[in-house]
Amino acid sequence: MNEYDSNRILDLTKKINYFVTKKLDEANCYILNTCHIREKATDKVYHDIGRVKKEFRNKKKPIVLVTGCVAQAEGDILLKKEKYIDAVIGPQSYHQINSTILNLEKKIKPLNLTEFDVIEKFDSLNSLKNSNNKISSYLTIQEGCDKFCKFCVVPYTRGAEFSRSIKELLLEANQLVENGAKEITLLGQNVNAYNYKSKKLSNLIIELSKIKNLKRIRYTTSHPRDFTEDLIEAHKDCKKLMPSIHLPVQSGSNKILESMNRRHSIEEYLDVIEKLKNVNPEIKFSSDFIIGYPGETEEDFQMTLALLKNVHFINSYSYLYSPRPGTPAFNLTLVNQKIAKERLYIFQNVAEKIKSEYRQKLVNKKSIVLFENKIQNENKFFGRDEFFNSVIVKSEKNLIGTIQSVKILKINRNTLFGELISNFNQKNCAA
Ligand code: SAM
Ligand code: SF4
Repeated sequence: MNEYDSNRILDLTKKINYFVTKKLDEANCYILNTCHIREKATDKVYHDIGRVKKEFRNKKKPIVLVTGCVAQAEGDILLKKEKYIDAVIGPQSYHQINSTILNLEKKIKPLNLTEFDVIEKFDSLNSLKNSNNKISSYLTIQEGCDKFCKFCVVPYTRGAEFSRSIKELLLEANQLVENGAKEITLLGQNVNAYNYKSKKLSNLIIELSKIKNLKRIRYTTSHPRDFTEDLIEAHKDCKKLMPSIHLPVQSGSNKILESMNRRHSIEEYLDVIEKLKNVNPEIKFSSDFIIGYPGETEEDFQMTLALLKNVHFINSYSYLYSPRPGTPAFNLTLVNQKIAKERLYIFQNVAEKIKSEYRQKLVNKKSIVLFENKIQNENKFFGRDEFFNSVIVKSEKNLIGTIQSVKILKINRNTLFGELISNFNQKNCAA
């Protein structure tokens, strides 16, 4: 979502003649768009500001803005602690970035814009064409969260759940497709909680699938509780919907899920997976896990490992529990950190083994790949298969924006390497 926000911030600043430069020392405005989900993200802000300070030591200071969730959660502290920062702008206030920059040009500072103006924000953005021209583009459809998991900052940094209208989303999706997008990933902190005047995510997907030149639709991140029957059915009916689903579970222990306030049990989670497999046995899953949540015993951890092995997640993102100020879990007693780190290590090794076994089975098989980029100075193209695996093939012809059948020849940890099965044929694009 930060990538989507960053692109929209650039669309906005173009209006006041601020454009991207790759040369840091040439910038007269420096925008740091931040994430607050885990502890290290905040440290990174201070580190990056230090880098800018160093770069501009003997030069005119650029305007320095911190945007995103760190600005929302720690705006006042940032302004007090780091005088180099001119303004902080929360994720629901970035439509005010141009007036902020213009004020700062007139030396009006410091500024703290951290209101939850989500309606106003999207009203402003809707009047502005989305200029992103990637083959695979993001589209924010929903923001915020009403679930209040005890460990999570999102309800406090992004605010309450808000869904954009189907009309504005179709307009923006069409802009992205006109710019060249063949794939759109629908984004939301709780994307399957999407609800605009009783229209749900499945309704939106069906509408989007009617856009002729849009070939693939994905969505992230889903919550198990919001996986309703209509969304499961959409995976049967909509061929453009990709068969890979990111479905965070956090823990394999019902006791821990309850103390996290996740509002679902392992049985309910597995039920969703089974229903999805019933409509399409090809569907693969990835998930997020928090290791070492307060109260996690060895038995709880073993349940998480068992779940990992049982579901065969093709990608598992695991994190050590990070206490976040302002969340209900913040003051809970931590698990012994040495033990927590050992568990994370064990977990990640098992997850890696499962992923590698899955990938090994792809060798000599066919993958359907949407090509996104050419690798610089080489006749090689990068794309993704239906399960979001990265694939690289050699080709003399330009494959960008086409969907091709690829035979996988070899793999490494993160990439599949293959060759085109049929001769290059532009018509394959309609596959
Ligand atoms: N809404 C999604 C869900 O609940 O299913 C998750 C979105 S959350 C922004 C992304 C991931 O960050 C979570 O799934 C969780 O694993 C991780 N995360 C959030 N807060 C965390 C914390 N305090 N410590 C460690 N990991 C955390
Ligand atoms: Fe955070 Fe996801 Fe829980 Fe919402 S559902 S509070 S975004 S972890």
